[in-house]
Amino acid sequence: MLGDNPKYKKSADQTHQTPSHLMIEEISHAELVIARIFDFYRGTFLSLQQYDAIVIQYTDQDTCIQLVSRLRCHFDQAIYLKPVFIIKDHGTLPESLADITDGQLSRADDLTLVGSVALRIRDRCAEINLSLDYNYEELIVFSFLAFCYTRDKEQVRPRISQRGIYYPILSDLMYHNVNQRHFTAILDKMEREAFLDGTFDRATYVCSECLGDYLLYREVCPHCHSAHLKSEDVVHHFRCAHVGPLSDFRVNGGHGTLECPKCQHELKHIGVDYDKPATMHYCLDCNASFQNYAMKAECCGCGHDQEVEYLIKKELKIYSLTEKAINTLKSGRIQTKEQSKEIEDVLPWHLFVKTLDFEQSQNPSDMSHMVSLRFNDFPSLIKQVGEENKYKLLSEIVQIIKTTQQNFDFRGIKLPRIYFSLLQTRHNEAEIISQRIVFLINHLLNDNLRLKRVMLTAEVLPMNGDLVQTILTEIQSVP
Ligand SMILES: [Zn+2]
Ligand SMILES: [Zn+2]
Ligand SMILES: [Zn+2]
Repeated sequence: MLGDNPKYKKSADQTHQTPSHLMIEEISHAELVIARIFDFYRGTFLSLQQYDAIVIQYTDQDTCIQLVSRLRCHFDQAIYLKPVFIIKDHGTLPESLADITDGQLSRADDLTLVGSVALRIRDRCAEINLSLDYNYEELIVFSFLAFCYTRDKEQVRPRISQRGIYYPILSDLMYHNVNQRHFTAILDKMEREAFLDGTFDRATYVCSECLGDYLLYREVCPHCHSAHLKSEDVVHHFRCAHVGPLSDFRVNGGHGTLECPKCQHELKHIGVDYDKPATMHYCLDCNASFQNYAMKAECCGCGHDQEVEYLIKKELKIYSLTEKAINTLKSGRIQTKEQSKEIEDVLPWHLFVKTLDFEQSQNPSDMSHMVSLRFNDFPSLIKQVGEENKYKLLSEIVQIIKTTQQNFDFRGIKLPRIYFSLLQTRHNEAEIISQRIVFLINHLLNDNLRLKRVMLTAEVLPMNGDLVQTILTEIQSVP
C-alpha cells in the first residue's frame, strides 16, 4: 500500500554475525517479499530465489554490474527474470546497468516503484512457459526473448562498453559461452528465424575466426608484415624535376635548410620551389619501401592475427520482438529448424548414396562419371571466410557446379569433399569439366573473396560397381 513503511527483518536463517557480503535483509512491501543485498553479495543465488524482487545497495559501479550480470545469466528462470532494483541516492545509473535492471531507488525506504514494477513483471512472467528440454543455444534465445518480453522492452540496442559491443542480457548470457559462439551469430539467427525484427544501427568489423569485436589494428610492411616502419615525405623539386625522400634534401642531415641533391639549389618555399606529392613508408626489417602499407588486426579474444580485408563486416542492429517470438514464449516451444542446415540443390547424404547406387546400376561405367572434389585444408578456408559464411560459400560453390552439369545430375556433400555426377559424359569430357569447375571455384575464392592458398583437387571416378564402396571408404579416410 502506498505510504506504508516497509517492514525490515533479517531472513530467518540469519543472525547478527552474518557478514555483509552474505546478508539478505527481508522486507515486506504491499504483497511482496523483497530481498535487500549489497552489490558485493557473495551468497548463493538460490537463497534469493524465494523473493519477489531484489533491491541492491549500490556501492560501486563495476561491482554492481557484475552482480546483476551474474544474476541475469543464471539459467534458472526464477533468478534471471527476477525484478532487480538499485538503491543509489545520487546520480543516475549508467546505461549498461539501467538496461539490465528494473529501476533505481533513491532511498532504501521508498519502495513504491518496486511494488508496481515487480507486480507487472510477475504477471508477464506468468504468461511464459519454459520448456525443460532446451539445448544450450535455445536456452540463450529463450532467456533473452523472455527478458525483453517481461520488461516490455520495445527495442534492444547495441551499446559500446569496455567489453566491446554489448547487447543487454544477451552479452551477459554469452559471456561464459563454452562454444565460443559470438552473440552476433545468435542475433542473426534469431532474426532469420523471425523472432526478432532488426533495423540498422551501425556497422563494424569483427574477427573472422571468433566474431570478436575487440581488435588491435596496426600498419605493416606489405612484404614481410613487420610493423617496424618509418614514414617520410617525398619531395619534388620543380626546377630540375628531381623526386626523392625529404632526408635526401636536408643539408648535412640537419633540420634547417633544404638543398636539392641533384642540382644543389636551395629549396625555399613549398608550392613555389617544390611540393610534397606523397608519403613513402620504409620497412626497418626488410628495407622495402612502399607507398601503401598493409593493415593487420589482431583479435584480443582469440589471438587470431588477420589482414583487415578478411575481417567480417557486421551490421549492428536495433532489435524488437516479433509476434512469433511472443507466441513462442507463451507456448514454450522454440523450433530449431536450422540445426540440420541444408544446402539447396544438394541431396542429403543418405539419398545421395542411394541415388548413386541406383544410377551406377543404370549407366554403363565408361559413359558416366562422378567427380570427387576435395578441399585440402577446409578448416583454414573456413577460418578465412568465417564460420558463419560457411553455408553461403558452399551454396555458391554448389551453384557453380550445377551450371556445368546436366539437369539429371546430382550432388552430395561430405566435407571436406563435394561429389557431383556427370552422367552420360565420357571420361575425357568429364576431366575437362572437372578442371573447369576447379578453375571457376578458385576464381570465386580468389577474386570475389580474395582468399589465398586454397588447394582443391578433383578426381574423376568411373561409375562402376565399386563406386559407392570407394566413396564410403574415401570419406572415412580423411577427418
Ligand atoms: Zn633540383
Ligand atoms: Zn618488410
Ligand atoms: Zn578472434
